[in-house]
Amino acid sequence: PPETSARDELLFSLIAKEEARQREGLELIASENFVSKAVREAVGSVLTNKYAEGYPGKRYYGGCEVIDQVEQLAIDRAKQLFGAAWANVQPHSGSSANLAVYFALLEKGDTVLGMALDQGGHLTHGSPVNFSGLNYHVVGYPVDRQTEYLDYDVVRKLALEHKPKLIIAGASAYSRQIDFAKFREIADEVGAYLMADIAHIAGLVATKLHPDPMPYAHVVTSTTHKTLRGPRSGLILSNDLELGAKIDKMIFPGTQGGPLEHVIAGKAVAFWEALQPGFRGYCERIIENAKAMSQAFVERGYRVVSGGTDNHLFVIDLQNKGIKGNKASAALDKVNITVSKSTVPYDPEKPWVTSGIRIGTPAITTRAFTPEEMPIIAGMIDEALTLGPNEELRERVRMLALAHPMP
Ligand code: PLP
Repeated sequence: PPETSARDELLFSLIAKEEARQREGLELIASENFVSKAVREAVGSVLTNKYAEGYPGKRYYGGCEVIDQVEQLAIDRAKQLFGAAWANVQPHSGSSANLAVYFALLEKGDTVLGMALDQGGHLTHGSPVNFSGLNYHVVGYPVDRQTEYLDYDVVRKLALEHKPKLIIAGASAYSRQIDFAKFREIADEVGAYLMADIAHIAGLVATKLHPDPMPYAHVVTSTTHKTLRGPRSGLILSNDLELGAKIDKMIFPGTQGGPLEHVIAGKAVAFWEALQPGFRGYCERIIENAKAMSQAFVERGYRVVSGGTDNHLFVIDLQNKGIKGNKASAALDKVNITVSKSTVPYDPEKPWVTSGIRIGTPAITTRAFTPEEMPIIAGMIDEALTLGPNEELRERVRMLALAHPMP
């Protein structure tokens, strides 16, 4: 076939630009990471050419004998990594994983209890503009106004009042540990299913640096591209084989067609990497870096939601600094520091504006940044937010980033 890269210079020049942007900047988006070269090789491989509707051993297409082994490897490694009896590695994303689970467990109009979006929850946990909020009656639980930690008495009260069929434990912007055992107690009390969405903390869960939901949740969903450092994709786990069979059907043929076997291969590589002894040390350093940077912000007079972090991320409430989340994120973009704007609990601002920014350390930890360097980054962010972005600061950010090679 023609060498496409030689002809499509426009597209490949854009990829080169994006690579330079990633290399020369500080990536602090909590849901992003840098995958290994091996993961990129698998995702960029000839496996993208293959159709394989169905599951290993039961496909609707011929020529799947190798693909079957690839997918089975991913399934076996996922089960080993998380200690699960069943795994489905076909979800194209975290959202598709959640969609399939809802289809398997719920009827339209059923009640779901999940963390409210403006308190740190995810779109798929019940936002009115998402399939979750559009198809189900969603009740959102908040964090405590004072401590900004989850209040399990409030979750229990809401569960008793609304009798949900499904309770979701998991978040996109919550910096404290989640007590899955408590969630299961509440679910049992009201006869609900418990789904743990570990999209953000999957790497920390796999290395037992965060409490494990597997003994408690009926089903666990995840993305594979955040702390787990795999390709952009999704994953579903359970210890209940009957439930697993139902969910298999809701992934294919329920909500997806042909699986992305090149991405599944990338997941197999990432699970293998996460099973190696070094991965725990990596996850420990993610948390050490997050703690060190949140502390540096506190020392500079910033209000960190809940006062700090136990995981890979924290949220800064900028209300005392007189700058909105969207303006702060835009100012940081100008000096090549990438964060996401974020609502803070009980935020008076709309989701497009927000009062805060969310900062995560998985990506910079992959680039071997250390806790000693966290006050330097906090200082650069402070400078951009208080004095405004400028060329000299952008150059300092670039030099710091380039001193830490990207995989
Ligand atoms: N669940 C949680 C808790 C998330 O944070 C995310 C993504 O940020 C998702 C699900 C959805 O993942 P995706 O963006 O792959 O659809």
